[in-house]
Amino acid sequence: MFNEIVEQSEVAISITDLNACILYANAAFERVTGYSVGELVGHNESILSDKKTPSIIYKTLWGRLLQQKSWTGVLVNRRKDGERYLAEMTIAPVLDNDGKTAYYLGMHRDITDFHRLQQQVQSQKQLIESVVDTAPVVIALLDENEQLVLANHEYQKLIQHSPENEPALVFLEHLRQRIGTRWLSLKNNGGRMDIQEVQVECCQPGIVRWFSCSGIWINVKASEAEAFFDGNQRTHLLLVAKDITDLKKQQEAVRINALRAMMAENEVADSLRESLRGAIHQFQVPFNMLEAALGLLERRNAGKPADPLQDLLKTALHAGQTALETLGYSVPPQKPQAFSPVNLNDLLRDVLILSTERLLSEGIVVGWPPLH
Ligand code: FAD
Repeated sequence: MFNEIVEQSEVAISITDLNACILYANAAFERVTGYSVGELVGHNESILSDKKTPSIIYKTLWGRLLQQKSWTGVLVNRRKDGERYLAEMTIAPVLDNDGKTAYYLGMHRDITDFHRLQQQVQSQKQLIESVVDTAPVVIALLDENEQLVLANHEYQKLIQHSPENEPALVFLEHLRQRIGTRWLSLKNNGGRMDIQEVQVECCQPGIVRWFSCSGIWINVKASEAEAFFDGNQRTHLLLVAKDITDLKKQQEAVRINALRAMMAENEVADSLRESLRGAIHQFQVPFNMLEAALGLLERRNAGKPADPLQDLLKTALHAGQTALETLGYSVPPQKPQAFSPVNLNDLLRDVLILSTERLLSEGIVVGWPPLH
């Protein structure tokens, strides 16, 4: 029974004497190596050696066997046709009744394809890691318990600046607040959240940085043994954040400049409006006097033939009023202001930015810690 089992085993099995001379090899051994049993028996196992295996490996192997311990490892072997293959090998001493080593039992299988796949997975992993690492954005992967599973170089840089705060959790908190009630449904449906701009004080105390931040929930197959057949998946959150502080600063500078220009324009319009209204008011006085004089003349000349002075006054009054009306039209209209909620912190900050130069030139220093 044992003979049949060993003979028909899928594992390449050989038995050697103490010099590693082959005494027996099973059918799988013949299949893997390409040699027939007749060609193997009496030869040292080194017949399979490709001489690519470092000698330290053989020394370790023999060192273990001489201590009557088994050895497991990988050797580079060569088949009869010269093709190389990787042999995952276990060699164990077989002891006699006196406890002395009588034989060596060798068992190996060809793992060349498995190794190739492993290498491909490994190099793909390295490739992905280097792409993720060189990406000029912060990337972090969180598991279901919001524990950091993976983070790239940009993320590590953030941690260096503030080791006490986990930046991913700071981003997460901001995103959760922004997304509100949609958070759970997005998470449960493996959704992607919209890009959100978040202001984070996570790098250095007092220094606020802006990030455009988004996240996507992805399902990752569970690696526990019990999940092997049931296909259980774990939800992970992939966070991506790009530092847009410089862009924000530029936008802010543009906004403040636009605000300055608008205020200057308003000031010009206000003073023009004031001057024109003042001029209209002043012109009105002589016209009122002309009107009174005309009224006086009309009463005096009532029932008499037409007085050329009266006509002249009328024409002058009419021309003057037309000119005043025209002047009135050229008063710049007051633009209606829309009512909207105002963040007092933002408003105060804008006022301070706009007035800094003037305040400083007058020796005024304003201490203002914004309220959060
Ligand atoms: P070796 O002359 O064998 O010398 C390599 C090192 O092993 C040296 O340090 C030497 O001192 C030591 N050494 C060699 N023989 C003995 C010994 N009898 N007692 C103590 N130390 C010793 N090798 C493979 O390449 N492929 C295989 O598939 C393979 N299968 C094996 C299966 C079994 C059961 C056994 C016992 C050994 C097997 N070996 C295999 C090892 C093989 O016997 C050779 O040691 C190895 O191939 C190196 O051969 P070599 O001629 O280059 O060097």
